[in-house]
Amino acid sequence: MLTLAIIPREIINAFREHFGSQTKPELYRAPGRVNLIGEHTDYNLGFVFPIALEMACYVAAGPGGDGKLRAYSRDFDEEFSIAVDDLPAAKAAGKWSDYVLGVARELLAAGVRIEGGNLYIASDVPLGSGLSSSAALEISTAYALLGPRHMDPIDIALLGQRAESQFVGMPCGIMDQYASVFGQEWAAIQIDCRSLEHEYVPLPHDVRIIAVNSMVKHELGTSAYRERVAECQRAVAAIHEITPDVESLRDVPVALFERIQDSVSPTPRRRARHVVTENQRVIDFAAAANAHNLEVMGRLFIASHRSMQYDYEISCEEIDFLVDTAIKLPGVHGARMTGGGFGGCTVNLVAPNAVENFRRQLTKAYEERFGKTPVFYDCKPADGAGRVTDPD
Ligand code: ADP
Ligand code: MG
Repeated sequence: MLTLAIIPREIINAFREHFGSQTKPELYRAPGRVNLIGEHTDYNLGFVFPIALEMACYVAAGPGGDGKLRAYSRDFDEEFSIAVDDLPAAKAAGKWSDYVLGVARELLAAGVRIEGGNLYIASDVPLGSGLSSSAALEISTAYALLGPRHMDPIDIALLGQRAESQFVGMPCGIMDQYASVFGQEWAAIQIDCRSLEHEYVPLPHDVRIIAVNSMVKHELGTSAYRERVAECQRAVAAIHEITPDVESLRDVPVALFERIQDSVSPTPRRRARHVVTENQRVIDFAAAANAHNLEVMGRLFIASHRSMQYDYEISCEEIDFLVDTAIKLPGVHGARMTGGGFGGCTVNLVAPNAVENFRRQLTKAYEERFGKTPVFYDCKPADGAGRVTDPD
């Protein structure tokens, strides 16, 4: 199993070396997340069920003194700098710097003074694989720029989301930033994306959560995401005509949907069916987790995948192959794609003593079929974002 764990002390040393500075920076961490179930439900104000990961983005932050905000990403080996006075007029450049600038601008808009200074960014969340390296970057940057100043954690999550949806230009929901802020070492987080409340749900001990990276990311991703957001809005508009109480797909229980679905045209109808049934699956999954019922949890995983595959149409050949192969292996309770779609990772519920065989068999089959080696991550729930108090 791959472990790429970042060692906090190394980030401190790398900061000093990169910026030629002897000051000891403060270090902040924000985790990636794997969503167990509830896909594309967050921007429909429904339910999601992620865990925060040990894999995280780290930002070491120290003073600069020349009125500039300077940020270096080890993962891109690239640096940018901007005068803090120029921040309000900054424009998105279609690059990683947008995430940092977007967060800085949101903080400014919230009345937080940005002092300038040096940021050294390093992440062990795989980039662009559906484990939310983007939210990890946004949230760790927000903590780093805030420093000792306090902000309500939910506001930090919300400003990260605004940075991504409004500045970066990805119309995302709140799940990723929320999970990065509110993660807990001992539990999954069931989030209500309308009320923005959550409940922690401990997971059964006799199961391992394994993410498998297909190592493909089809370009379609971003445009299809926007398309799905728009299709869901079309479904809501059609349902609203006959049921005026409905403001979002969150308001549509499965039984109501079945009654009125014919009034929605075919494509938005399929998208809505995914979202409506997926919300119910999150609730059922939480109940099954509380009851330690791995069989039901596994079945819900597979139903969720089929729904993404056929109704939401956001899967792809490689991901379907990983799911279909995994669920035939011994000790695998369930498998599904996780994240936005069109590649990235699957997430699998695997009996602890079956993990090694699972890894071997799935690798062999995937290599034979696609000539690529999948990467495996052992996903244990981890704590949410904050300052790393003992980097040494
Ligand atoms: P995901 O969130 O699933 O990993 P996204 O496409 O939403 O995928 O976000 C990936 C993007 O986030 C990267 O292409 C990059 O622009 C930015 N990013 C994430 N982590 C870092 C990092 N450590 N340094 C610089 N940019 C990063
Ligand atoms: Mg992302």
